[in-house]
Amino acid sequence: MAERTTLSEKAVNELSLMCGWRVLVDEPMSSYTTFRIGGPADFMCSPSSPEALSKVLAWTSAEGIGRLVMGAGSNLLVSDRGIRGIVIRTNRMCAWTAEDGNLVAEAGALMPRLANDLAGMGLSGFTEACGIPGSVGGGLYMNAGAYGWNISDVTTLVEAVDGSGNAMELTREEMAFGPKTSALMRDGLIATRVHAKLISIDKDRIRQKISELLEDRARKQPLELPSAGCVFRNPSGKGAGRLIDQCGLKGTSVGGAAVSNRHANFIVNVKGATARDVRELLELVARIVRETTGERLEPEVRLVGDWDVE
Ligand SMILES: Cc1cc2nc3c(=O)[nH]c(=O)nc-3n(C[C@H](O)[C@H](O)[C@H](O)COP(=O)(O)OP(=O)(O)OC[C@H]3O[C@@H](n4cnc5c(N)ncnc54)[C@H](O)[C@@H]3O)c2cc1C
Repeated sequence: MAERTTLSEKAVNELSLMCGWRVLVDEPMSSYTTFRIGGPADFMCSPSSPEALSKVLAWTSAEGIGRLVMGAGSNLLVSDRGIRGIVIRTNRMCAWTAEDGNLVAEAGALMPRLANDLAGMGLSGFTEACGIPGSVGGGLYMNAGAYGWNISDVTTLVEAVDGSGNAMELTREEMAFGPKTSALMRDGLIATRVHAKLISIDKDRIRQKISELLEDRARKQPLELPSAGCVFRNPSGKGAGRLIDQCGLKGTSVGGAAVSNRHANFIVNVKGATARDVRELLELVARIVRETTGERLEPEVRLVGDWDVE
């Protein structure tokens, strides 16, 4: 097991001042992931602004402290041993403005909230993201999308910082968006703000569309159980869910984790699943799909934390 990170009282105070918020110690990650799984983070902080985030990154980089930046925790499988170093949440960086058809949103803004609030202003751009329970930053990281829409379709510019907190701007082209990937993932950059284009549409039409999309999700996805959405990427031209279903794997379980009976690409936390249960189930499903169909499934969910010897 990797060694727990220790910080002096002075360092913790310094970090709290930088963030403008209390630093949490040994905080259970299960409270911050949609899977409801994950051991403790040694430290957790929530910077109040992109500038504060930049300072935290510069400081942790200079001190050689490991860190993980997270949004809403809706695409994370955190190990049972938890996360060494500092988890930096973007949840307090959620301000946004929409003027003249342009959105500027901080990375912690939640996509469903944006979709709804913009709908109230008769603006569309994030409508299809109404059921993606992640932050703008997490969405940019893996080019989130649904119903034929991707965040890359509306993004015009991304403000970001590198691991040392140096600020930069990336054009849409420089973001190198691809299926479930971006320059943030490739280069280890952290998004701080997105600039996106919006279009004006009748409010009621947008609201109607949102309720149809949410109803469709509720029919097709096991939303009543904790999960991280689709766990495998779609191999080119094929749906991972369909392949898993073809192999008769719906309902297969390891410990408290099971392949959903409603959507085969969802692994659900049925009852007290551990990260290890989910990981073993991911490996089992990938192995059976490979042996049966020859297709290789790669996880879409991000495995993070201390997996040493597990
Ligand atoms: C019920 C359910 C349905 C879902 N449906 C969809 C769907 O339809 N389409 C879809 O694409 N996804 C879907 N997802 C998955 C998930 O919501 C998306 O991947 C979302 O974009 C993750 O955002 P997050 O803020 O939760 O990221 P997190 O889970 O917090 O983090 C995921 C990754 O993003 C990185 N990250 C987070 N913030 C930043 C940042 N500011 N800068 C750089 N990197 C960052 C993290 O380091 C981590 O590697 C679903 C999940 C659930 C639980």
